[in-house]
Amino acid sequence: MSLVMSGGELAASIRAETADLAAELTAAGRTPTLAVVTATADEASAWYVRSLSRTAAKVGIACDITDLGQASPSRPESPDAAVESIRVELIALSENPLVHGIVLQTPLPGGARLAELAGLIDPAKDVDGANPTSLGRLMTGLPTSAPATAAAVLALLDRYEVALSGRRAVVVGRSAVVGKPVAQLLLARDATVTVCHSRTVDLAAVTSTAEVLVVAAGRAGLVGASFVAAGAVVVDVGTNAVAGGGLAGDVDPAVAEVAGALSPVPGGVGPVTTALLLRHVVSAASPR
Ligand code: NAP
Repeated sequence: MSLVMSGGELAASIRAETADLAAELTAAGRTPTLAVVTATADEASAWYVRSLSRTAAKVGIACDITDLGQASPSRPESPDAAVESIRVELIALSENPLVHGIVLQTPLPGGARLAELAGLIDPAKDVDGANPTSLGRLMTGLPTSAPATAAAVLALLDRYEVALSGRRAVVVGRSAVVGKPVAQLLLARDATVTVCHSRTVDLAAVTSTAEVLVVAAGRAGLVGASFVAAGAVVVDVGTNAVAGGGLAGDVDPAVAEVAGALSPVPGGVGPVTTALLLRHVVSAASPR
């Protein structure tokens, strides 16, 4: 059986540090405040936002959720109107001095482009690193808030002292939210990185070359035991809602028989992502 790379303990220590800093800011009359904008009724996303909001309350961060995904079935909003509502909201939040961090939750409604909309988030409030300016800074090695999920993958690997320099890393998924920033962070740590996606031919042949495998495809059970080299370190980022409730990762549980280490879903990357995102809010709320 592989080592279980749980995110619980790491997330707890990040939350404790965040709570201390949030308390100091609140005492100084500056309650750290996160605004989350959601625009679809996606179940996995709703689960994440509920969990984020609960955790924010526990560490003393105000979390305001704006749900723009509830057009009435009798008066459905047109795709253009939905995108315009998001635009208006992001501009208002960027200008609001009481808001320190802004997250635009994916998935977005059809026709909406994350890069375009995230570009409306004030880079100083871009706590999930979605603005093209933040991503450009990440790419060029300048200080920035990296997308929290990508940062969480690296934090988890560091927590378990996984060596990265010179090692073969494979990332499954190339979204701007997870896959590409994870690849960039691994590259910055001198791993040799291959990125796979839905057009990759013979995915198993590529993933089985990995010493470190990060899976962020959003396909439950996509990566089976035959996709993984013996002893590889596997980080499962996938969060897929399962019928009857609960979450499943992108990695089949049978991988635990082959891998050297595997992060669980839930309880792996997820809690660390939330903790780091809230840590970014406190940084954004801190006087510069
Ligand atoms: P996304 O935007 O849908 O991107 C999925 C990526 O996976 C795409 O690049 C896609 O390729 C690739 N892909 C899909 N099916 C594939 C297949 N059969 N073989 C190889 N590649 C495939 O999703 P995302 O936002 O990056 O999120 C990925 C997963 O991570 C989701 O399950 C999401 O819920 C989860 N997530 C977890 C956290 C957390 O904190 N734990 C945070 C954010 C997201 P193409 O580009 O070719 O379409």
